[in-house]
Amino acid sequence: MTFSFHPVKPVTTGEGGMVMTNDPELYKKLIRFRSHGITRDAGQMTKEDGGWYYEQLDLGYNYRITDIQCALGISQMKKLDRFFKRRKELAERYDEAFADCKNIITPHLLDGVDSGWHLYEKMISLPLYPMLTDGEQDYVIGKLLELVENK
Ligand SMILES: *Cc1c(COP(=O)(O)O)cnc(C)c1O
Repeated sequence: MTFSFHPVKPVTTGEGGMVMTNDPELYKKLIRFRSHGITRDAGQMTKEDGGWYYEQLDLGYNYRITDIQCALGISQMKKLDRFFKRRKELAERYDEAFADCKNIITPHLLDGVDSGWHLYEKMISLPLYPMLTDGEQDYVIGKLLELVENK
């Protein structure tokens, strides 16, 4: 299972993402892949030659996350409930604002399924982030309605 921590997502580390697996072999391969295909695990190497010894077993890249990115991600996790609540609130405000406008098709909540609302988009993507104020959103709504009603 993979997760994106791109800046538009509910939890961001600035960039990057996360992989989860319950397959021990895939786990070992992923650990090597993120760090140039290198291992220091004696169980994976062809020989042991002291503490500094390592082997490059596969082609890999530098996909290591920094401590600063992790700190950002952890701080975001603590605010997740508040972020989800606000995103949902903003999405519902858009739905309500455009409900009577036949020229705007909104991405309604699917029946029984709750979205994380990382984006509010159909034709275009409208601003949607937890710090968006009602006033700023009203401005966006007003401008969009002005645009479609003057067509
Ligand atoms: C999630 C997302 C991305 C980045 O996805 P990655 O899997 O992290 O590369 C880029 N653009 C939009 C609009 C997205 O929603």
